[in-house]
Amino acid sequence: MLNEQLRTVVQQMPKAELHIHIEGSLEPELIFALAQRNNVKLAYGSVEELRAAYAFTDLQSFLDIYYAGASVLLQEQDFYDMTAAYLKRAEEDNVRHTEIFFDPQTHTARGVPIKTVIDGIHRACQDSPVSATLILSFLRHLSEEDAFATLEEALPYRDKYMGIGLDSSEVGNPPEKFARVFAKCRELGFHLVAHAGEEGPPAYIETALDVLKVERIDHGVRCLEDAALTQRLAREQIALTVCPLSNVKLCVFDRMEQHNLLELLDAGIVATVNSDDPAYFGGYMNANFVATFEALPLGLSHAQRLARNSFSAAFLPAEQKQKFLDEVDAYFAAL
Ligand SMILES: [Zn+2]
Repeated sequence: MLNEQLRTVVQQMPKAELHIHIEGSLEPELIFALAQRNNVKLAYGSVEELRAAYAFTDLQSFLDIYYAGASVLLQEQDFYDMTAAYLKRAEEDNVRHTEIFFDPQTHTARGVPIKTVIDGIHRACQDSPVSATLILSFLRHLSEEDAFATLEEALPYRDKYMGIGLDSSEVGNPPEKFARVFAKCRELGFHLVAHAGEEGPPAYIETALDVLKVERIDHGVRCLEDAALTQRLAREQIALTVCPLSNVKLCVFDRMEQHNLLELLDAGIVATVNSDDPAYFGGYMNANFVATFEALPLGLSHAQRLARNSFSAAFLPAEQKQKFLDEVDAYFAAL
């Protein structure tokens, strides 16, 4: 049992979220509301029926439903409403800063202009009291040519996103498939991240670092299968954006008690806790913290470390980062 003080602390402590797919924050209720507003026919008859379909067995079974849910997003206001709903939840969970992934290809493939996507999401970020920045993510099951075309379409709006990521079906789509487009994005001055080592092998983490030159690894939990890689991540202080509820829901770990978050921290890795696709995986930031602290022998010092890690791994100017870290330390000092 998680004691009440620790539960309150992990909920109230200031934190940053570094791994959230905005399309994965679409709750069934909002999917139905937007479907009605836009006259989109859904394959599910009710909110309950849709929620019942969220029984995933692996990453692909989730992605199939995730793309179906995103089909209701057509107008700029839809993207705004989705993002505003997430930011409100984040604020309730005491998230001070969030770096949000969006997948333009999921929308441009359906004929939605990239400007509509970016403007809607960005406007909601501007209107929120939570500090929020955007990371454009390429879908790795599509080709590198497609990623290049997406980059070109998105470049006129480059002041509205600061990073480039890589997500979707991992196995069979190694990071090196996107070597040239990531080299281009690096040249353009974007921050770089990639999903690696979730379902894919530790070798994908290495190529994400060595070929794509990413600054953070999204997930990365399979790094512990490779001792040399584990040591390298710790030595180079490369942050992992770990998503505990997602990992259990997608059967990366069978039960939360088996999650390796504590081993990652003990190995000296800058691990962080994040929600990934909160509408689909059973919860936002605080739900992830509570589930993790309930299942694993984590204490106050781990809570403080995870809160600090979330800000130290953020892509923020040094001064702003220090302000958030001071806020974390002041919170824990006052306990
Ligand atoms: Zn993810």
